[in-house]
Amino acid sequence: MNEIQTELKNQLEKYRLQKIEPFMEEDDHNENFRMDIFRELGSLGFCGMTLPAQYGGSELSYQDLCVALNEIAKSSVSYSVTISVSAMVQNIINEFGNEEQKQKYLPELTSGQEIGAFCLSESGSGSDAASLKTTAKKVDGPTGPGYVLNGAKMWITSGGIAKTYIVMARTGAEGSKGVSAFIVEDGTEGLSFGKKEKKMGWKVSPTREVLFQNCFVPEANLLQSEGDGFKIAMAGLDRGRITIGSIACGLAERALDEATKYALDRQQFKQPIFDFQGLQFMLADMATETEASKLLVDRAAYLYDNGVSDQKLASMAKLKSTDTAMKVTTDAVQILGGVGYTSEYPVERMMRDAKVLQIVEGTNQIQRVVIARSLKKAYQK
Ligand SMILES: Cc1cc2nc3c(=O)[nH]c(=O)nc-3n(C[C@H](O)[C@H](O)[C@H](O)COP(=O)(O)OP(=O)(O)OC[C@H]3O[C@@H](n4cnc5c(N)ncnc54)[C@H](O)[C@@H]3O)c2cc1C
Repeated sequence: MNEIQTELKNQLEKYRLQKIEPFMEEDDHNENFRMDIFRELGSLGFCGMTLPAQYGGSELSYQDLCVALNEIAKSSVSYSVTISVSAMVQNIINEFGNEEQKQKYLPELTSGQEIGAFCLSESGSGSDAASLKTTAKKVDGPTGPGYVLNGAKMWITSGGIAKTYIVMARTGAEGSKGVSAFIVEDGTEGLSFGKKEKKMGWKVSPTREVLFQNCFVPEANLLQSEGDGFKIAMAGLDRGRITIGSIACGLAERALDEATKYALDRQQFKQPIFDFQGLQFMLADMATETEASKLLVDRAAYLYDNGVSDQKLASMAKLKSTDTAMKVTTDAVQILGGVGYTSEYPVERMMRDAKVLQIVEGTNQIQRVVIARSLKKAYQK
């Protein structure tokens, strides 16, 4: 870690221990997202870390962003994921938006005043995202040319609390080439939200259906050209997978910390349970897998920062780190025994929060599909 990253980490550690950690159990139980926490993280500069200064960003690297998300995730995966998805939306607008779109939408997202959401999945199209059915029909609207959106997006992180939605909708034929990407603002007529999903984990982060019923968006809200939407979505996800990896590593590190401290403290058979070799080997494996995952995520972020687009490595980082988070949090519950299964300790929440990391932004089966496809391409004559 360089000097900037050490400073970021220390600042965020202090913040999360004072402002997030004390409320996590209660907020998890009540499924309570605190907008003031998100906005405070924004005012401290953590919501627009990688964006250019002219749009309110801090011009830091992806590696720096990963350090920040990793640290926040040690207390709350939910806030970390909210920032991560909003960062993905900002990056999409910054890379694919025109000057007018950047000036209009980026400052309120980089400052953390508002949240961004990414709307790709539908009830019938998850892994097979290119089969999405939401339509965007070109029309001459009352205020000029635009598109009328109809359809339902499912599982949208920050649905209902976000202000800026990137929405993938079909403007052309079946398949990925018929998909376009639009910016839709909260408050637009015809945009509404379904009920909050009852989830196993990520309870502080609201997940909702986002519904479009004859929802008119002006032509100015189209990102790039018609048919570019799938390419835009995939570019966003390639980066999102790296940040999801950093969140998974934060979760694994915290679970390892809780399990080690408990094992050293808890006595059975007149000795600390840490002294049983069976547990030592579990902890050694947990530490090794966590470190290996951190290195892989850091490598993927480093390559991205240095202009190398390596989809395979981003998938490997997401796959390895989220499988590690699942294994390490599950083993942490095991090491704590009965109390590990109760909300007296945070490891049960961490185990619940880890599971969905293996599902979002491409399931871990889909990451394997991406990695295998890339292997085949490299070896095929
Ligand atoms: C809490 C939460 C937050 C989310 N946030 C967002 C969001 O903000 N924006 C958004 O757009 N989406 C979001 N999602 C949706 C998420 O990206 C999808 O759930 C995910 O892509 C999987 O799609 P699916 O649920 O339809 O599963 P399916 O695609 O139906 O998959 C079911 C099973 O089949 C497997 N499978 C499918 N295809 C293959 C294949 N080719 N090879 C091998 N196995 C395969 C999958 O791995 C999985 O195990 C979120 C989901 C959750 C649960």
